[in-house]
Amino acid sequence: MPIRLFNTLTGEVDLLVPSDGASLRMYACGPTVYDYGHIGNFRTFLQIDVLRRFLKLSGMQVRHVMNITDVDDKIIRNSSAAGLSIGEYSARYVEAFFEDIESLRIQKPEQIARATEHIPRMVDLVQKLSDIGAAYKTDDGSWYFRLAAFPEYGKLSKKDLSGMEDGARVDVDEYEKDSARDFALWKAAKPGETSWDTAIGCGRPGWHIECSAMSMEYLGDTFDLHAGGEDLMFPHHENEIAQSESVTHKPLALHWMHVRFLLVDGRKMSKSEGNFYTLRDLLLKGYKASAIRLALISVPYRHQLNFTFEGLTEATNAIERLRNFNDRLAKGAFPAGENPEIQTAATEAQAKYLAALANDLNTAEARAPIFDLIRTSNTAIDQGRFFENDRVAVLAVLASFDAVFDVIEDRDAEPTKRAIAWAEQSGRQADVAPELFARQSLSDEAIDTLVAERTTAKKHRNFARADQIRNELIEKGVIIEDSKDGVRWKRK
Ligand code: AMP
Ligand code: ZN
Repeated sequence: MPIRLFNTLTGEVDLLVPSDGASLRMYACGPTVYDYGHIGNFRTFLQIDVLRRFLKLSGMQVRHVMNITDVDDKIIRNSSAAGLSIGEYSARYVEAFFEDIESLRIQKPEQIARATEHIPRMVDLVQKLSDIGAAYKTDDGSWYFRLAAFPEYGKLSKKDLSGMEDGARVDVDEYEKDSARDFALWKAAKPGETSWDTAIGCGRPGWHIECSAMSMEYLGDTFDLHAGGEDLMFPHHENEIAQSESVTHKPLALHWMHVRFLLVDGRKMSKSEGNFYTLRDLLLKGYKASAIRLALISVPYRHQLNFTFEGLTEATNAIERLRNFNDRLAKGAFPAGENPEIQTAATEAQAKYLAALANDLNTAEARAPIFDLIRTSNTAIDQGRFFENDRVAVLAVLASFDAVFDVIEDRDAEPTKRAIAWAEQSGRQADVAPELFARQSLSDEAIDTLVAERTTAKKHRNFARADQIRNELIEKGVIIEDSKDGVRWKRK
């Protein structure tokens, strides 16, 4: 099935194909490791994960590269305030990032590239730009990109930048559209700052050159897809295009994907606005990692998403339904045979699901047929019209849904446990929701033992003890369900 994705560069929903006929080469701008990531950042990484998983589900090979910006203005500012080297300072946040993406079940890209490990490649690119007159050095030893050397500047963000001041410079990494100017490629060393002694002088790279150098290093001069959050379109991606294409005279990426923002009360969730939640904040409040994942991916990437706790509760309930239904099929016994109505419903649900994702990754439309299928199947099971072949067919649809959404298998205990351990280590015990401590106090084995004791008590008609155990488990967030197939338990 052809996969279409909106392309910021062309302004159209274009076909996405591996241009080398083998694997889709994609580059995603990674985190700046100066602090814990907030869930706005993770919305972007999650949507890229959805894309990557869908491409793989469709049989495509993917070569996905992501950078880690481990040197930039903010890291330098914070590390010197903390009296640490940038490496010591950022190590904690690099580790936290990988822990968080694991909690959110974001697949690791094939290649992770750290900026500080690719300085020679960046220096080489600045030299090439200098050779063709697109880069110049200022008196303090910094290097700038000469905007006038790249007439196509602005082609991605489609802003009219004709009023730009020729020769005016900007040396911060992030700035607004109306201040498009010659931007810093390399910043001369300042006393006390981490720097590299190189052929172009002593200093450190600007943010934009990092991604140009590393994407081309691993994916070649032209690759298939470049992705990031919507704020990166300008100036970051525009600058990457200018730096790379001035040297190669080839398009840097054929397809550009920008994930719209996660908002809070209509404003961008961001550190500077102070209106953010980290993943850890939400885990400590008692929300499950899977619910956070589902809430952040269920609104398609081309729509901004307003963050609400109701949204998290809706996702929690949706996951309950998926898991209960999956359990019902996986553990239930059904008579041999099939119901043609269910067979058709399963085939149609699968087709609609795949078509929605292939149509610009419409995750909301992709979810709907799966829940319709659950409803139809539950009714058929209740009425005794559901058979073994139906079970196989419907489970296959759920498996394909979960290859992308990945929320059905319950692996939520681990992220919560890690978040609690982290809170304890960092003096944030007060932020842990009290019921979480209670929940964590019971291991799976302890629950199994209590459930078995309750079954025995019931057999011996000791209902008082059986109820006591049930209540104790409920208090600790464990729900027991008696069914004709036996007793099941799950954590709330
Ligand atoms: P940073 O760590 O700031 O470099 O950002 C990492 C990624 O998160 C980038 O792709 C940003 O565009 C993206 N991002 C930042 N804030 C938000 C937000 N509120 N919603 C969605 N994505 C965001
Ligand atoms: Zn980048």
